[in-house]
Amino acid sequence: MTSSATDTVSFADLNLPAPILAALSDVGYESPSPIQAACIPALLSGSDLLGQAQTGTGKTGAFALPILARIEVERRVPQALVLVPTRELAIQVAEAFQSYAAHIPNFHVLPIYGGQSYGPKLSALRRGVHVVVGTPGRVIDHLDKGSLDLSALKTLVLDEADEMLRMGFIDDVERILEEVPESRQTALFSATMPPAIKRIAKTYLRDPAEVTVAA
Ligand code: AMP
Repeated sequence: MTSSATDTVSFADLNLPAPILAALSDVGYESPSPIQAACIPALLSGSDLLGQAQTGTGKTGAFALPILARIEVERRVPQALVLVPTRELAIQVAEAFQSYAAHIPNFHVLPIYGGQSYGPKLSALRRGVHVVVGTPGRVIDHLDKGSLDLSALKTLVLDEADEMLRMGFIDDVERILEEVPESRQTALFSATMPPAIKRIAKTYLRDPAEVTVAA
């Protein structure tokens, strides 16, 4: 990813809406990182995506910015779900969404993870959120309780898929993949591509754009 085209592209060139460009200027990002330059156009076009990239490359923005660009704020139902391996990452990714959405009025993102009490999350889900960022086990708990409705989901992101595999969450991830609408867009990010992750990608991604960014 060292071509001069990706070196000179700007966020405005990527067709992100004005409120997002304003937020990127607030957070001081000058131009897209290589993974952002590669992933944002693919995800905006509705394509599935298989990304091999590590933390520190800007991969959160690579999926969060196109998701935000496509959110219909007036529909207060989960339109995107991001599955992550840890509570820390759930909080961090939800905070990234919040900062990139600083100029999108009435946008709501909710992190859900094990060890939290259910009460506040249940009332937030009842009031309505646009994006959920969660660990697989807790997402399944909410699906089983009927408190999380994924029937309007447009985008599912598996972030750090190899970590979710390593931590034993892959059955939960597959169950969620089976329960979300077939029409959704799916993006899978993983630092490494062990056979189990390749199999998930082959089974659940449709003709994905493939992006690899060196650490
Ligand atoms: P990530 O790989 O998503 O965890 O991002 C790593 C760090 O890079 C975070 O602190 C981001 O805020 C920052 N970052 C992401 N994209 C950009 C960008 N285009 N320009 C400058 N910093 C960025």
